[in-house]
Amino acid sequence: MAERTILVCDICGRPAVQTVGLKVGRRNLQKDYCEIHLQELTAGARAPRPGRRKGVVVAASPAKRRGRPRKQVEAAPKRRGRPRKTKTAGGSRSGSSGSGPT
Ligand SMILES: [Zn+2]
Repeated sequence: MAERTILVCDICGRPAVQTVGLKVGRRNLQKDYCEIHLQELTAGARAPRPGRRKGVVVAASPAKRRGRPRKQVEAAPKRRGRPRKTKTAGGSRSGSSGSGPT
């Protein structure tokens, strides 16, 4: 029995070209998409903001790892925003007293 499992698109049933990992709530799901539906999917998608990485993106096939694992670089504590300027509200008037109306 030499059966080969082929991935098919979860939507239309055509041969899938890619498995997409989804994060729904706390669950990690995977769906297979054909080219058409992959395009449809990515058409409305956006890339997450660079920099902050909350979760780990699950690769399509975790068994296969390409290249060397990425070394985790210790991120230097980045300052957020700009330092607050201290503004002297009101202020003290100096040298107001002295000569009155003569
Ligand atoms: Zn499809």
